[in-house]
Amino acid sequence: MTLPASRAECEAWDARDPLAPVRARFQLKSGLIYMDGNSLGALTHDSAARARAMIEDEWGNDLIRSWNVHGWFDLPHRLGAKIAPLIGATADEVLVADSTSVNLFKLASAAMMNRGARHRIVTESGNFPSDIYVLQGLAALSGAAIEIIAVPRTEVIDCIDESTFLVVLTHVHYKTAELFDLPAITRRAHASGARILWDLSHSVGALELDLHASRADFAIGCTYKYLNGGPGAPAFLYVRRDLQDQVQPGLAAWMGHAAPFDFTDDYDPAPGMARHRSGTPSMIAFAALEGALGVWDDIDLRDVRRKSVELSELFIGCVEALGSPEILLASPRAAARRGSHIAFSHPRGYELMQALIARGVIGDFRAPDIIRFALTPLYLRYVDVWDAVTILGEVLLSHDRTELLRRNAVT
Ligand SMILES: *Cc1c(COP(=O)(O)O)cnc(C)c1O
Repeated sequence: MTLPASRAECEAWDARDPLAPVRARFQLKSGLIYMDGNSLGALTHDSAARARAMIEDEWGNDLIRSWNVHGWFDLPHRLGAKIAPLIGATADEVLVADSTSVNLFKLASAAMMNRGARHRIVTESGNFPSDIYVLQGLAALSGAAIEIIAVPRTEVIDCIDESTFLVVLTHVHYKTAELFDLPAITRRAHASGARILWDLSHSVGALELDLHASRADFAIGCTYKYLNGGPGAPAFLYVRRDLQDQVQPGLAAWMGHAAPFDFTDDYDPAPGMARHRSGTPSMIAFAALEGALGVWDDIDLRDVRRKSVELSELFIGCVEALGSPEILLASPRAAARRGSHIAFSHPRGYELMQALIARGVIGDFRAPDIIRFALTPLYLRYVDVWDAVTILGEVLLSHDRTELLRRNAVT
């Protein structure tokens, strides 16, 4: 791949980018280079308009009738159906509900109830904290009947054995963006008779996924990252169609009942994905997500992945050209082994990121020394990458001690 070698060449690449027109669907402040879309995706105009309509027209005018007349009750299923093609699932395999952490609990507890004589869950040490804490909580709840094995990623495969009932892995690592080979590890789990649950939080909307082809059992993921659903937007969960009737969430709640409006005392799980509904969903958050998901209707994920790789390679190439000995790539160098963000280590990473943010380049920091930049192909341009690394170079040169700021609560 020959990448642009000047700012003017970046502009030429932008001019012929098939995704370039999508940027206009986002509200982006001029002068800001937003590279934190893997933590909180940018606002689409459609999201704002849809949330406004939900509040003013539906809630405001039609009040409780909206659950029927505006289809609020089915919205978790309709939005699941819109996410399904992005992960290679069918419409009846995906539900939007709760948060990613809660959905992990629902599915891991469901797997625990079907564990038979097996007693182990295998995961990666250094996985996203919730992905370990939720499992530890589940082990405590089980009265230590189950055991959580968290090992470095190179050892994960060897730990999956006949005592394993569930493997829980994050497809794209939240810090380093390193990819797991989803089909191969899914095959490996199945060969041992274990189920596998993939956390797709940093994958969905960033690259192509085909859960069906790999026969993955379960998946969860965020919608406020690459799907731009808004801060704290509801998450999704996937259960492969042929497993749905055997899988009962440990969080049984009224909206997941077969007949919620019968208000009976005994729990009877609804068929299919509906049993994974818990309590009343936040309709305003659903509306914001619904607006954002519309953007994906016309998008080919192959274009997204190709541009993501080009933006990432350009970013890394430009950083390497800076020749700074202190800033080191913490993501895999091979594009095929990375998701859509790039991590670098730097001994004063927090201060460096604060200085970048002060100059209008927004990425983020993850302790102890990692700075991350998300390359979101829907709204970032080649020229943004060029400018961001130019500014990074200036900051690295200036060593401006006055920029050493106190840490904020959210890094
Ligand atoms: C962002 C992220 C989450 C977030 O979970 P919430 O319940 O939405 O806070 C979970 N897992 C992974 C891998 C993530 O990257």
